[in-house]
Amino acid sequence: MIDKRKFYINGDWVDPVNKNDCNVIDPSTEEPYVTISLGSADDTNKAVEAAKNSFFTWKNTSKEERIELLEKLLKIYRNRSEEMTNAISKELGAPLDWASSAQMGSGESHIEDFIKRLKEFDFESNFDENSDNYIVYEPIGVCGLITPWNWPINQIALKVIPAFATGCTMILKPSEMAPLSGLLFAEMIHEAGFPAGVFNLVNGDGAGVGSQISGHPDIDMVSFTGSTRAGKLISKNAADTIKRVCLELGGKGGNIIFADAYPNAVRDGVRNIMSNAGQSCDAPTRMLVEKSIYEKAVQEAADEANKIGVDLPSKPGDHIGPVINKSQFDKIQALIQSGIDEGATLVAGGAGRPSNFEKGYYVKPTVFTNVKNEMRIAKEEIFGPVLSIIPFDSEEEAISITNDTPYGLGNFLQTEDKERARRVSKQLRAGVVQINGNAPDSGTPFGGYNQSGNGREGGTWGLHEYLEVKVISGWK
Ligand code: NAD
Repeated sequence: MIDKRKFYINGDWVDPVNKNDCNVIDPSTEEPYVTISLGSADDTNKAVEAAKNSFFTWKNTSKEERIELLEKLLKIYRNRSEEMTNAISKELGAPLDWASSAQMGSGESHIEDFIKRLKEFDFESNFDENSDNYIVYEPIGVCGLITPWNWPINQIALKVIPAFATGCTMILKPSEMAPLSGLLFAEMIHEAGFPAGVFNLVNGDGAGVGSQISGHPDIDMVSFTGSTRAGKLISKNAADTIKRVCLELGGKGGNIIFADAYPNAVRDGVRNIMSNAGQSCDAPTRMLVEKSIYEKAVQEAADEANKIGVDLPSKPGDHIGPVINKSQFDKIQALIQSGIDEGATLVAGGAGRPSNFEKGYYVKPTVFTNVKNEMRIAKEEIFGPVLSIIPFDSEEEAISITNDTPYGLGNFLQTEDKERARRVSKQLRAGVVQINGNAPDSGTPFGGYNQSGNGREGGTWGLHEYLEVKVISGWK
């Protein structure tokens, strides 16, 4: 059993004030593998105090000093990339190849990109040449960062790095379901030599450290990535202290496939939602297919899903691993059953574990067709490898079905008609629209409309989340 019960506060690894051990379960074996501590208000307060005390020194560091530290961190991250890959593979049950290329790689590319954006960023400028007004961007202060388990280091890097870059200090609470990568990242930050108190890590659950962060009077901003359910609770709890609340929440994306889509559009759509065992907020879990190619698309989707292997995280290859825990596994099973009960047609996968597993939270890659947008499988975020295929007649109908969701995170569309692609992409109510499988570049904004959140992470937009803006008149 790995022992990871300490927190990182004020530049040191410290024991929790009140002992509260929590054994975390390996999703591939259902056995506990690491003990962490769940923090209490005393731990949260200690971390907040450290962040508050270091703020006025850290905020006045130069951009160059912060770039130098971030460059050191990038070097360390690259040197220890194998450790990070292993940590993510273990905690998430992610196959090693995926844990390395997609998961670990995302952390590296965010650090690289934020260094680039920081170099280009002007924290001060004249309002315009004829004005004696001056505009200054200043760090917002002490930040509470709360992250989920599904893309653990991706989410951590998207918050911690811009907070460092802008001169904020912080308390990170990673997901208690996937604690290894956050703790390893804290070790790297320590090794890079960031001043004590600038970065603090306290493990805990939502009801404990999570709520203490969102309600804390000395925290100026909370940046949260996770479920819409928790996002609502955080907003309410943060209201009394009027702190800024940045939310990156759930999704139920659509992938519109027109009859003139490129030949592999359906197969790519299936792979896209099944990767990470279906545990991605922007996965296009509703595939909308134009009626003239519907039957062919259904066959292709079923064939592709049946080709996707489900296997141990330690095996090389492009299979998928288990989902994170028992409650997610049970929720996914219940939603698969609801699809059957509500009359959708199951063409691949289904309820229960794949035949090669008796243990572990493994789910079969599952495809439903003849889905109606009112069914639970089309409305609720399943967060497992389950795809719903919905037929449509016209462009207008496809747009209307795609937008008919409380979410608005990632949508996709496939057509060879460039004019139509541009027209439709502008009508989709979501923060990200991908045309013909072209993924957004590093440094572009990521975030949602509606109940998918209110923030934008990544690039210059990600820096702005951690900044206040001040106008000083009479400057000249
Ligand atoms: P979750 O909301 O259960 O937990 C996320 C984090 O919030 C964890 O650290 C948890 O301990 C904490 N938390 C839970 N309740 C809280 C509360 N009341 N107050 C404060 N903190 C609380 O989500 P999860 O299951 O870890 O992650 C999956 C969810 O995250 C999915 O809904 C997914 O769509 C979403 N997500 C969104 C994005 C995005 O960028 N929009 C990215 C990744 C994941």
